[in-house]
Amino acid sequence: MNTEVIMGLPVDQVTYQTILAELPLYFENGKKMTAISINPQIAVDAKKYPDIVEFIKQSTHRIPDGIGIVLVSQLTGGKIKERVAGFDLMVKFLEYANNHQKRVFFYGAKPEVLFDAIENTRELYPNLTITGGIDGYTSLSEAEVVEIINRAKPDFLFVALGFPRQEQWLARNTSRLNVTVLQDVGGSFDVLSGRVKRAPKMIINLHLEWLYRSLSNPKRIGRIIQLPIFVVKSLWCKVRGDD
Ligand code: UDP
Repeated sequence: MNTEVIMGLPVDQVTYQTILAELPLYFENGKKMTAISINPQIAVDAKKYPDIVEFIKQSTHRIPDGIGIVLVSQLTGGKIKERVAGFDLMVKFLEYANNHQKRVFFYGAKPEVLFDAIENTRELYPNLTITGGIDGYTSLSEAEVVEIINRAKPDFLFVALGFPRQEQWLARNTSRLNVTVLQDVGGSFDVLSGRVKRAPKMIINLHLEWLYRSLSNPKRIGRIIQLPIFVVKSLWCKVRGDD
């Protein structure tokens, strides 16, 4: 697998197909897959979190989750041509789990969101087993959360605590978790629960989902400016040879 460096962060030249094609090997060999979203927000902010940068460097799949990442790769002679959206990858993992009768665990989001996300997943994917869920505001200690997850023996763990909490949590706990596939999924449980709608297909195809999401959530409005800042900063990094 080839890797590019964008603002000091590795991003892998992967697609949904290449990741899914590798999955059986991970299960056969008992290896751990860590699929981590690299998007403009993380690339701009990651330097504040050396633990996250280290974790990303050690992760097996650093997915190009944003049109900004694809654009910068293209502008700098890279080979990343396709966005791998964290939500869509999670859905593909759920489909795989459903087809192979695997076990999944959900950690994160508000209790009611988690509940609905689990219900909907059960309905959509009746052949997978949901071995448990813990909301992202639990009073359980970190060690207790890890123990509960390990006792549940999931094959897939989806962590939805938002950036930077989910990456920091994974950085601290991945080595203690007996799980094959670990993914940080941001607000994906909100979408799975039906509370948050993804952008219409046409908007996604026009690579404008980031704009749609920013405009439809007042808390995200400031993020509109993040994409151009990211593109300029990352090109500047390349020019200076900082990567
Ligand atoms: N979240 C959580 N615990 C926290 C903070 C956030 O479980 O302490 C959840 C939140 O409920 C949401 C998800 O993390 O389901 C993503 O949160 P946010 O929208 O803030 O992050 P982003 O999507 O911007 O990464």
